[in-house]
Parts: sequence; structure tokens; C-alpha cells
Amino acid sequence: MADCLFCGIAAHRVPATIVHEDDDVVVFKDLRPQAPLHVLVIPKEHVASLAEADVALAGTVAAAAAKAAADAGYSASGYRVVANTGPDAGQSVAHLHFHVLAGRPLGWPPG
Ligand code: AMP
Ligand code: ZN
Repeated sequence: MADCLFCGIAAHRVPATIVHEDDDVVVFKDLRPQAPLHVLVIPKEHVASLAEADVALAGTVAAAAAKAAADAGYSASGYRVVANTGPDAGQSVAHLHFHVLAGRPLGWPPG
């Protein structure tokens, strides 16, 4: 989608620190990290949010999120995967993205 920020990152039109890419997903560092590890996992295909994702796409992105945490060394200590969806959750970019956060104790419940 032409005016979508994360489509721009997936197409390498918008600069980002990409840590992994394959045919289906891109994993890149969040611009404003909230933990020692804070990456975003996006599908290359434009999907506005988790609410619009089919099972296969949601599974692909979830598996990539777990792999990103494992590859960064956080399998044992743990991590959090978050998909803010819609206004009350504070979704600010309308392209599906899973946050992967790790490297500090993560409070619960979230704000
Ligand atoms: P959300 O608020 O859940 O929609 O998350 C959007 C995330 O995208 C925020 O954590 C932002 O810091 C992050 N973000 C926005 N623009 C960029 C960018 N150009 N590169 C990397 N991360 C970004
Ligand atoms: Zn997009």
C-alpha cells in the first residue's frame, strides 16, 4: 500500500534496522525501544491489523516473533509478544505488527 509506513519498510523504501527478512516477514528494531530487545515483526503483505489477518498469516507472524526472540537469546529468560489492535490498544500504524519485547522484567497488567 503506497502510503503505509510499514509497507515502505518492507519494500526498503523507508530506512529501518532490519534484523531478519524472508519471503513472508520483516523483523526490524523499533524506533523507540521499550526494552533491551524491542523488534517489530510484520508481514510483507499489507494487512491492517490482527483483526484482518487470516489464520495462516497470523501463524506465520507469530512463529517469526518466537524465532526473533530465540535468535536474540531470550528463549530461557522469556519475552512478550504484543499486537496492539485498534484505538483502545493504541495501535498507531495500520499495518499488522507484533512487538517482541525482552531483556527486563515486564510488568503485568500492561497499561
Ligand atoms: P503500535 O503503537 O502498537 O501501533 O506500534 C507502532 C510502533 O512502531 C511503535 O512502537 C513505534 O515506536 C514504532 N515505529 C514507528 N515508526 C517506526 C519506524 N520508522 N521504524 C521503526 N519503528 C517505528
Ligand atoms: Zn502496509
